[in-house]
Amino acid sequence: MNHALEKMKMHLQDPSIRIHNFLEVELGYDSKDAILEANRCLECKHKPCVSACPVLIDIPGFIHEIKAQNFDKAYQIITNDSMLPAVCGRVCPQESQCESVCVRGIKGESVAIGRLERFVADYHYDQKDSKCILDIHKNHRKIAIVGSGPAGLSCACELLKRGYDVTVFEALHAPGGVLTYGIPEFRLPKSIVLKEINNLIEHGVELKTNTVIGKTLYLEDLFERGYKAVFIGTGAGLPQFMNIDGETLNGVYSANEFLTRVNLMKAYEINQATPIYEGSIVSVVGGGNVAMDAARSALRLGAKEVHIIYRRSIEELPARKAEIDHAIEEGIIFDLLTNPIQIMGDEEGFVKSIKCIKMMLGQADESGRRRPIKIEGSEFEVKTDVVIIAVGTTPNPLISKTSPELSINQKGCIITKDDTGLTSKAFVFAGGDAVTGAATVIEAMGAGKKSAIAIDQILS
Ligand code: FAD
Ligand code: SF4
Repeated sequence: MNHALEKMKMHLQDPSIRIHNFLEVELGYDSKDAILEANRCLECKHKPCVSACPVLIDIPGFIHEIKAQNFDKAYQIITNDSMLPAVCGRVCPQESQCESVCVRGIKGESVAIGRLERFVADYHYDQKDSKCILDIHKNHRKIAIVGSGPAGLSCACELLKRGYDVTVFEALHAPGGVLTYGIPEFRLPKSIVLKEINNLIEHGVELKTNTVIGKTLYLEDLFERGYKAVFIGTGAGLPQFMNIDGETLNGVYSANEFLTRVNLMKAYEINQATPIYEGSIVSVVGGGNVAMDAARSALRLGAKEVHIIYRRSIEELPARKAEIDHAIEEGIIFDLLTNPIQIMGDEEGFVKSIKCIKMMLGQADESGRRRPIKIEGSEFEVKTDVVIIAVGTTPNPLISKTSPELSINQKGCIITKDDTGLTSKAFVFAGGDAVTGAATVIEAMGAGKKSAIAIDQILS
């Protein structure tokens, strides 16, 4: 047993070096670190960490195998419940899920469950003969999945294991959803995402990219083509804006567009067909993971100064603590208790400055966070070349508009009858951000898994 109160430290790229490259910031544990950290786990009989995991990974089970240096067995245990361990080990907010209830966290830091999951997955992929073999007995019934983000991939995997012929229809030319087009390379290398997706394809999941359901094909066409059920995991990719003057100026991006250009179109490489307007001073509006990713990407693209403009205080920032810490280490400037009221342009229509107002915090609102209130007369203007807006997203209305039988709520999220994801249309299920609005990778995976189980039950 390792009685250390703190987690084994994660090796990191030095901030002064990493701000000039898109390589991964966190370098992971080696086997010695992993075994030492695993030995902090008490293997609690009541397993609170497992119930706090949306896909119910047998956490003490896989940690037990790390202690015994059976890293392959640890991988098998994790992949019984999740086929994206290298992804989840990197980006899941474990601090608010499994690690938040870890018994070791009562006195000291919780066990580093996420880092251990990442170690197991990376160790597995580093071995030459590292295929994950699923035992599949085909039942020759076809299921269509719309969207290849974590919700769709998790649903596909669970249906595959149950013997279904699964086809994933993806609007973009590359699979992975936000894992591919949103989260930057320095947090989640695309080669890792592809390895986990290719694993599913090698097991027989059919992937049809460049296929927009609601345009290329309609939901009804899928049933006519013999699919017995459909799972919609189309995410929440429609950016919201602030509705202030100046949002249409050159140099204003939604974070989605900015990150898609950087990640998917590799705008940071010279001679790419999809360029990006590189500013010297960049202002990012918002305080979530998306805002941190946009700000840190802008810095790596060469901006001299990058500001995060957020209307509440540092305590309310919704981004993961590790991402905030890394952003601070890298020199991102946090303009807290500040809200933009206008973006100003030059005579050629390019952004030249942003006008903001200072805020103070009032009583807690319905979200439980203290409401930001304007301080009258505190307006000020700061010079900026680029404004990136990261104030939230909603689901794209394409499918719901072309399938009016699908009930949606005021925010455009698909309404489901229960947590199986069954929608108002027979044999159509939905899950992930398309149902909840912008949330997390593991919640999307949990939803995909529950729908897969329900689809199997109604078709059996
Ligand atoms: P998505 O990942 O959005 O995937 C939906 C897929 O459906 C996309 O590939 C899209 O192209 C496709 N699609 C959409 N419409 C159609 C259509 N009509 N036909 C066919 N295909 C369609 N979560 C975390 O847990 N940790 C993080 O660190 C984190 N960081 C984030 C950083 C950024 C920049 C962003 C944007 C999000 C982040 N999130 C993070 C949130 C997380 O990525 C999402 O909650 C998760 O990806 C949702 O999964 P999903 O499968 O529901 O949707
Ligand atoms: Fe181990 Fe923490 Fe889970 Fe207990 S709660 S089994 S200590 S990871």
